[in-house]
Amino acid sequence: MTEFARPASHRPPRRGLMFVLSSPSGAGKTTLSRRLLEGDGDITLSVSATTRPPRPGEVDGKDYWFVSPDRFADMVRDDQLLEWATVFGHRYGTPRGPVEAALHEGHDVLFDIDWQGTQQLQQTDAASDLVRVFILPPDLAELERRLMGRATDPIDVITGRMARARDEISHWGEYDYILVNDNADLCLAELRAILKAERLRRKRQLGLADFVRGMLGQ
Ligand code: 5GP
Repeated sequence: MTEFARPASHRPPRRGLMFVLSSPSGAGKTTLSRRLLEGDGDITLSVSATTRPPRPGEVDGKDYWFVSPDRFADMVRDDQLLEWATVFGHRYGTPRGPVEAALHEGHDVLFDIDWQGTQQLQQTDAASDLVRVFILPPDLAELERRLMGRATDPIDVITGRMARARDEISHWGEYDYILVNDNADLCLAELRAILKAERLRRKRQLGLADFVRGMLGQ
């Protein structure tokens, strides 16, 4: 993808967009976001704050900002979060500062957040910058297989995740784009196509009016 990118100097200024990915746990969203980020220098991940303890291999500041419940409450009180929600008994939220800075500089931001956070972003002034993508698993049996195969989680944890997956899926109608992840490469290509098309929307190409005026000699 990068080999087809225009050099920055040839690109008219653009308004950054908020690219939201939601899916039930186990539908492959984390891998897809990682691959999307690796191949595209113009989009950065919004690193959420969470009160959930780190899983093995997770790095503070990269996967999440791991914070105490008190620290999270302070962030909510001080309006430092763009949105926040409770998921599986832990709190998760999007720090406002880095997102606003990236958008201001014309960079896109990727959000791996649930339907509750997506609804909250939709209610802010930034709603017109929002592109909401929902990733469905091919079927629930496949999802359950993926959740079972993930780690050595107790059965009640897996049952809880399945209930939560059904709940998450029930919000598919609140998204702009729906992808079925039955093939990770295809799904990634579709995600990139959505991102590319959304970047080309007239409202996001800020320099366009001047560019065309210059072209027409007006
Ligand atoms: P996990 O604990 O498996 O990393 O994430 C659990 C769920 O929380 C996922 O559905 C993920 O998308 C969601 N999530 C992660 N960060 C945020 C956030 O900042 N806000 C909201 N609303 N949901 C989040």
